[in-house]
Amino acid sequence: MKKSVVAIVGRPNVGKSTIFNRLVGERISIVEDIPGVTRDRIYSEAEWLHSTFNVIDTGGIDISDEPLIVQVREQAQIAIEEADVIIFLVNGREGITAADEEVAKILYKSNKPVVLGVNKIDNFEMQDLLYEFYALGFGQPFPISGTHGLGLGDLLDEVIKHFPDREEVEEDDDRINFSLIGRPNVGKSSLVNALLGEERVIVSNIAGTTKDAIDTGFSKDGRDFKIIDTAGMRKRGKVYESTEKYSVLRALKAIERSDVVLVVIDADTGILEQDKRIAGYAHEAGKGIVIVVNKWDAVDKEQDTMKKFEDDIRQQFQFLSYAPIVFLSALTTKRIHTLLPMVVEVSENHAKRVKTNVLNEVIEDALAMNPTPSIKGQKLKILYTTQVATKPPTFVVFVNDPELMHFTYERFLENRIREAFGFVGTPIKIYARQRK
Ligand code: GDP
Ligand code: GDP
Repeated sequence: MKKSVVAIVGRPNVGKSTIFNRLVGERISIVEDIPGVTRDRIYSEAEWLHSTFNVIDTGGIDISDEPLIVQVREQAQIAIEEADVIIFLVNGREGITAADEEVAKILYKSNKPVVLGVNKIDNFEMQDLLYEFYALGFGQPFPISGTHGLGLGDLLDEVIKHFPDREEVEEDDDRINFSLIGRPNVGKSSLVNALLGEERVIVSNIAGTTKDAIDTGFSKDGRDFKIIDTAGMRKRGKVYESTEKYSVLRALKAIERSDVVLVVIDADTGILEQDKRIAGYAHEAGKGIVIVVNKWDAVDKEQDTMKKFEDDIRQQFQFLSYAPIVFLSALTTKRIHTLLPMVVEVSENHAKRVKTNVLNEVIEDALAMNPTPSIKGQKLKILYTTQVATKPPTFVVFVNDPELMHFTYERFLENRIREAFGFVGTPIKIYARQRK
């Protein structure tokens, strides 16, 4: 189910990133552990009561070459386009400024719900500062303190009241949702066109698609697909659309709604740092992944060119060792027909559930082949393994002591499970739990 999105807007220094960090808390990111893949986050999951939602810090989308007023306008625009509910943040200690009024003007024109947060109200004596903000016209201002974590509960209660009712949007379970992500100009739009232009593809309109998301439904050979709208696939020349942060934000939103993500690489330019970062997001999200090497027509081929390129990918995307690689050309449509069958296979693996008894036989064989390690005289004992979830397949191994499960042994078990059940294209997760 699609999660609601909350965006924080306001002029610089009112405390947007402080509040963002408060809301998302300390979340461990796998991507940040991958060498060469770093990011400062502007988009993350948060929780309040029984709601899980995503938060955007629009202030993190750096448009700093532009005058302040253009910056705040563009950021407000991003909030309107990307969010279901907007937190408009002002500084209680400074009163209403011209830049605040500029933001307000843009937010009025949208019909998105706006909740006004008055930040830097660090103690109760400062409550009187609140009243002037009624003049902004967004109803009751909520006093908060980002540094002290005060007032956030009341603010969030108000925010979640405005979440749209997601129940109405029924999702078709048999449909495979996928997205194409990659740097600008790797050929994502061309690939979509090539896919939709294939023989026997029937394009359909999808009910419930909102005006700001351009999803495309189609069917081929009796299977239904949906291509999720992605960054860079609609370009209308807004200043922020060319910023990297914004395209990352769009990619993250698209990844979240996908079962399978096609990580598109340009064979002509080779692999760049940004490709790795983008691939890291898909991996972290636990989606099925296919690596697509596009523009293969533009490469001068010698005998082992493909093999070399593949080795290079395996070397540079070590965290995606499970992802299949497809070489093709959107331009000439050569090998385009191999892509959808691969998407189907990966999606099936991503949703695969294995039988507990067969799983335990596989683990027993693995144990016989490579006995469990001992740490400081304590031997790891594996009692029982079960698959607890799909999308991605997730396994819990019950052991005598989880501390004894070394990651190299976990990796070994993962490889055995992959060999036995063929989880091509999907990450799998393994957790060790204590069995008393
Ligand atoms: P942004 O530019 O809107 O993202 O603002 P920041 O989150 O970077 O905060 C700007 C400054 O205000 C920083 O020095 C913060 O420490 C400070 N700040 C943020 N929240 C509060 C608050 O609740 N009280 C006080 N006194 N300072 C705050
Ligand atoms: P996007 O920004 O990722 O959506 O990329 P586009 O689909 O707009 O393509 C960017 C450029 O690459 C365009 O000039 C395309 O014509 C070109 N292009 C796309 N696919 C191929 C391909 O397979 N081979 C070659 N030679 N050029 C391609």
